[in-house]
Amino acid sequence: MNSIYGWTGKILIINLTEKKYKIEDTYQYKDLIGGKGINQLFLFNNIPVNCDAFDPENVIAIGAGPLVGTLSPSACRLSIDTKNALTGGTASSNCGGYFAAELKYSGFDNVVINGKSNKLCYIFINNGKVIFKDVCNYKGLTTWETEKKIRRDLNDERIKVISIGPAGENLLRTAAIVTDNGRVAAKGGVGGVMGSKNIKAVAVRGNQSILIYDKNYIKKIVKFYYKLSGKDFDALRLSGTHGAIFEPANNRSAMPVRNNQEEYWDPEKIKKVSQETINKLGFEKLRIACFGCPLYCSHFYDIGDFKCEGFENTNAMALGPKMDIDDPKAIIKLHGLSNAYGIDTDCVGTEIAWAMELFERGIIDEKETDGLILNWGNYKSALKLLEKIVYKKGFGALFADGIKVAAEKIGRNSIYYAAHIKGEDVFEPMRAKVAWGMGIALAPKGGGHCEGAPVTEGLGLSEKESMKRYGVKTAGKPFTYAGKPELIKWHEQFSAAINSLGMCYLGSMWAFAEGFSPKDYAELFSITTGEKLTEEQFLDIGLKVHNIEKSFNVLHTNFSKKDDFPPDRYFEEELNVGPSKGRKLDKEKWSQAITHYYKIHGWDPNTGIPKKDTLEKLGLGFVIKKLKNNKKLD
Ligand code: SF4
Repeated sequence: MNSIYGWTGKILIINLTEKKYKIEDTYQYKDLIGGKGINQLFLFNNIPVNCDAFDPENVIAIGAGPLVGTLSPSACRLSIDTKNALTGGTASSNCGGYFAAELKYSGFDNVVINGKSNKLCYIFINNGKVIFKDVCNYKGLTTWETEKKIRRDLNDERIKVISIGPAGENLLRTAAIVTDNGRVAAKGGVGGVMGSKNIKAVAVRGNQSILIYDKNYIKKIVKFYYKLSGKDFDALRLSGTHGAIFEPANNRSAMPVRNNQEEYWDPEKIKKVSQETINKLGFEKLRIACFGCPLYCSHFYDIGDFKCEGFENTNAMALGPKMDIDDPKAIIKLHGLSNAYGIDTDCVGTEIAWAMELFERGIIDEKETDGLILNWGNYKSALKLLEKIVYKKGFGALFADGIKVAAEKIGRNSIYYAAHIKGEDVFEPMRAKVAWGMGIALAPKGGGHCEGAPVTEGLGLSEKESMKRYGVKTAGKPFTYAGKPELIKWHEQFSAAINSLGMCYLGSMWAFAEGFSPKDYAELFSITTGEKLTEEQFLDIGLKVHNIEKSFNVLHTNFSKKDDFPPDRYFEEELNVGPSKGRKLDKEKWSQAITHYYKIHGWDPNTGIPKKDTLEKLGLGFVIKKLKNNKKLD
């Protein structure tokens, strides 16, 4: 057999009910690159249509791409994909850290798990061997305690672990999977799915080599490190995403304030929780990088009575302005505890902010909240409510299935104030930038800014530059609807392909103009694997993966065009302060834009269902067959 470069060449398929496994060849799926692409293929082919995310028949797939574990800068990402516990559609979650590289060194590109263990267990993958270990004594441990205990029990400090905390064990549909204390795969309730299978953790260790194709690889890889050395990346290196993005985002009206009533926060409050202030307070003790990343954007904080890591911009947004909390210690503690409990900070922030708005409006009161005074900025109540949510206690139990279900239980028009897309809690502001909001709403995983949502609208990109990069003139124009469907589609392809390689999105031109382009990724792929890829082919693979995700939703849900709209309040309530004062979304223009978006994708303009011709052109015959068999396609 010829050598395989980049990939390990093996996919581990686990039947957890029988505690058995088999191995498949990765190379047969190379047209989907790896990571997310291969994971999504296994979901589409193997999850029964009528199963719930928490049924044993659900599949959870963990994947590292072909560049992971090599010298490609920031090639550390792990894609975790499963049936979404909140929406019933697809979930695709992603985290950095060291697990993905160690998974490759342990001998596997992807791990696909179905079935359910009869007892709480962890799976240990050690240099190609797989061990299932019942660990009832791990019950109730936080993610931080679990990582430590596994390393101690197996007497190996170099073992890498992904695990769930009490939130996942308690089957919260907002539970996350955590690795390295602060790298979190959070979306879609992936931690709840792991909990439903009685998997406390997956641990990996190995020393197997990854072969590299190009004999001049070292010479060629150097230029990619230089690419990440420009001034934008210096800002990220110096102060992390919180330092580089938080204040500029506010200046561009991109801040979720008091449950998204506004998108601009008081500059005094911004200062109080800025990275500059955090640094002055001396909280930062260490800067930390994920595997092989020259950007080291993560922090380790010690705030006196509490230590944690991984705090970044979206955590600050969801746990600060969203609830009007301007105490940096409180925000850091909410973040750290969420990671330890294994719950998505975006969901927690969204849910508590929503409860605060209901409380402030008199829709709920102390009798319903177990005596908690949920006024804006009340971080003591926020901390108590976080714990109640994780342990499903009293008022906190309301949130076990996400904000949409909580609002349906409360009634009293509380759904109007609930920020969700397709049933998944979303923390993001959506009114001041059209493509940003639309990209979030159209994400197949049920909302999120790391797929089609571009950041270009806040950067004042010129028409010429916009045209050169995306083939439309309006990428830098925040309030314009024209051209935005094309811009979103481009980013969907780009993001899906990057997540299949296993690279960090923060190093790409999505985040900063000087970041990696499709051409760069195609070259990195080619020199690593020896498989020639052009930039067009790279984006085409992203398009293929995106269509598999979309088709999964068609197969498993009844989503229609109305589910691609954000909540009504974004169309009805104007922003009252900040540079985007007076802005709200326009329903008619939104509707026309997404019809156009369906058309340019080759999907039915009314339903958004991919057309047979489109799927055929993408080489997705198996998708056509399954959709037809389930009467989802004529
Ligand atoms: S940019 Fe930050 S999150 Fe991304 S890989 Fe590097 S250290 Fe990790």
